[in-house]
Amino acid sequence: MIVVAEKYLEDIEKLLGKKLGDEEQDLLIKAYEFARQAHEGQMRESGEPFFTHVVEVSKLVAELKLDVTAVVSALLHDVLEDCKDKGYTLEQIADEFGSEVARIVDGVTKINELNIETKIEDETLSSRIKLATLQKMIMAMAADLRVILVKLCDRLHNMRTLHHVKDPEKIARKSRETLKIYAPIAHKLGIHRIMWELEDLAFKHLHPDDYRKLKKLVARKLSERERVTNMYINKLGDALKSAGIKAEVTGRVKHFYSIWRKMKEKNKEFDEIYDLIALRVITDDKDACYSALGIAHSIWNPVPGRFKDYIAVPKSNGYKSLHTTVITERGEYLEIQIRSRKMHEEAEYGLAAHWAYKEGLDTKNKWITRLIEWHSEVVSGLSHLKDLETELEMDEVFVFTPKGEVKHLPKGATPIDFAYTIHTEIGHHYAGAKVNGRMVPINYELQMGDVVEIIVNKNSSGPSLDWLKYAKSPRTRAKIRRFFKEKYHQELVERGKEVLRRLSKRLSTSVDEILESEKIQNFMIKNGIGSTEDLMSRLGDGSITFYDLLKLFEPTVVTKKHKKTPKSLKQSPVIVEGLTGIDVNMAGCCHPIPGDPIVGVISRRGITIHHEKCSNIKNVPDDKFVEVTWARQFLSTDSTVYLPTWLEIEVRSGKAGSIVAYVEHLNLSHKLVVNRKDDNVTFIKLHILVKNSTHLEELINTLKGIDGVEKVRRLRHN
Ligand code: MN
Repeated sequence: MIVVAEKYLEDIEKLLGKKLGDEEQDLLIKAYEFARQAHEGQMRESGEPFFTHVVEVSKLVAELKLDVTAVVSALLHDVLEDCKDKGYTLEQIADEFGSEVARIVDGVTKINELNIETKIEDETLSSRIKLATLQKMIMAMAADLRVILVKLCDRLHNMRTLHHVKDPEKIARKSRETLKIYAPIAHKLGIHRIMWELEDLAFKHLHPDDYRKLKKLVARKLSERERVTNMYINKLGDALKSAGIKAEVTGRVKHFYSIWRKMKEKNKEFDEIYDLIALRVITDDKDACYSALGIAHSIWNPVPGRFKDYIAVPKSNGYKSLHTTVITERGEYLEIQIRSRKMHEEAEYGLAAHWAYKEGLDTKNKWITRLIEWHSEVVSGLSHLKDLETELEMDEVFVFTPKGEVKHLPKGATPIDFAYTIHTEIGHHYAGAKVNGRMVPINYELQMGDVVEIIVNKNSSGPSLDWLKYAKSPRTRAKIRRFFKEKYHQELVERGKEVLRRLSKRLSTSVDEILESEKIQNFMIKNGIGSTEDLMSRLGDGSITFYDLLKLFEPTVVTKKHKKTPKSLKQSPVIVEGLTGIDVNMAGCCHPIPGDPIVGVISRRGITIHHEKCSNIKNVPDDKFVEVTWARQFLSTDSTVYLPTWLEIEVRSGKAGSIVAYVEHLNLSHKLVVNRKDDNVTFIKLHILVKNSTHLEELINTLKGIDGVEKVRRLRHN
């Protein structure tokens, strides 16, 4: 039955257990009307308007105590798939209801379009395709955690109304899929309330006779046992009360499917299932659980080996509880489960309960981990071939923004890929990255579940060509290249010309002749290169290499592996926040050398190392500083890395020649400039490469010892 929007709003508020703000109310009513129009004229097999389905799904979502965004998404979850002919688009949903809603609706639609049940059962499909389908499903779910919750509610409502479906094959397929895919996901996420119902509904449709029989048996057993069960409940309840422990004791009945499965698996008769009825004790807090356990064990003897402490060691899906089995005065086994109210809520709603508490990122991380675990379990169940297990490795990683949004990246992706995934401009202004709160180098390989924060510098003039070495995703590389194509076209052309010059030397001909040659002309046509300028720019950005062209002229040439290998980052002289291998730049203002007191500043194109006393960093805000130290090997006299430094030497007029001679004999790359002359003193500026401060000190001392030298001092700015 379709109700007016106001009544619907009231129902939702009741289920969510809270009043909605004006804006939320408006959004919800808008979505309600939108969905009603979209599904106008569509019927379900039950003969009811299709719209009732999405309304029911949205109510289930509200029951999980999710937010309005999730409820709205549930209302709209079938619009894209079922109303295509009416021209509804994702963009429209994003425009009217926001990008979050659009993301969730898109995710649910994608899962539906995968036709997972048909694919998993299709014998003609290879394991690889099945695996890829599962991966796509996880990806759709990972886009937003609410996707899977809406999907589970969607499935639950479809299962609740499955008896209206006429095609028995469809009923069986949906039920099998529910048991194979959706109930296990619900289990993995700890949403047991949904899992139980899904399993029982699927069981009912797949084995109607067994289901009916079992239902009768359980009902009979329950009424038979009612008096005894109540006696146990009262006895334990009273004992807890007199011990001053606040607790609620109830009887709990296993759900049908789990009884049936236990009978099948262990080959047991119904009467042999002794834990059919268990007692459940719900306390206020954790401590009370252990106290209650003590009381239970004091009135009934525990069965040895049956006590399980899932509070100290929770199950992998987060389930927490104390389990014990006791022998009652009637000589019967009785299972008792003890947990706090919060643990109970989590046992019923799993991670959805955390969602309601807004516990944030940690929950989201766990969520993904569990989805991935589920994936590997399904895959190992799906494979008849051992080698499938090696395919388990996902070719994508999921990482998070600091706000908890999930991003998919190819395996091996680095922070620079992540930055470009968020936004091209963020990528262009990349200055550094923190993963799980720690600085990482630009070549850091992102791991599943990492929380990645990109540090940007708005004043940065753009990416560095070096980044191409670290970008793993072709899309990132394309974006970086495009930037250079647009901004540094001329620079790339120059680089390209340089490559051509090298080629002309190698081939002992001229650049023009190369460009006019038939080989190059054909190559350009084949690769869709329209002009020689275009060719040079592509040579410049590395998408075409020297060897690509050389091969045209010398086909027998043994091609060097021309994929650029990143230079060893271990050569970085600076350790950033305890990490080696981070790409840094030495500041051009103060020219720090190993041994100088230094600070790192997150700046344009990464981290720049300044001398602690550099005047250029006085106004840098605190949050832009990172802690840096010199790597030990660069401080030693054996160091093989040289860095530039500037000295000013005051030498008595006429004596400058001996300085020149001395510096020449040092055989270090250098530049000497006579800066100014007084009447009797010449000021010489010396630009020279040194290993470190020890080396520099030696050099200064030697210079001071040279005849005519008055003063030697280091220049910080030049
Ligand atoms: Mn649906």
